[in-house]
Amino acid sequence: MSSRADKAAKGQKDKHHAILRELVQEPTNKTCAECLAKGPRWSSWSLGVFVCIRCAGIHRNLGVHISKMKSIDLDSWTPEQLQNVLRWGNKRAAEYYECYLPKDFTRPQATHALEAFIRNKYEKKLYIKKDGEPPENPQSKVDRLKNDSREDKEKEKKTTSTASRQRRAEKKVDLSK
Ligand SMILES: [Zn+2]
Repeated sequence: MSSRADKAAKGQKDKHHAILRELVQEPTNKTCAECLAKGPRWSSWSLGVFVCIRCAGIHRNLGVHISKMKSIDLDSWTPEQLQNVLRWGNKRAAEYYECYLPKDFTRPQATHALEAFIRNKYEKKLYIKKDGEPPENPQSKVDRLKNDSREDKEKEKKTTSTASRQRRAEKKVDLSK
């Protein structure tokens, strides 16, 4: 990896972390999407929610077909992953996954009960909105990434060096033949 590519990758990483730090400062993202604990530092980027470390562990138990986790502080995020949390976030995700959750529902605090609730919510989809997804977040929010996502992708291509990614890229080329 050249130092220039290093710099580009670091710039992208810093920018993504800046957006993430801003996102978890929003009132609706300031508490865990599941147990309402303060200051979540983890995210299911596939579901687009911010959660506390304990609920992050429970999400991991669900399997990656339901939830894919990342740390706000420790992990690198791709533009696509970041775009999904910008499109969702705790508020919109609650409108979708907790549409039929009783208003007086008390969030369980014991871990086993919390896991049962989280499984009911995402695995059994007991409370899900039945007539489709709620309205998207304002486009302006997502646009923050859009302007340079193509540039980011180019950078990613240049700076990605793991064998698995290369294999995936090769596979894609093969499929297009
Ligand atoms: Zn939690």
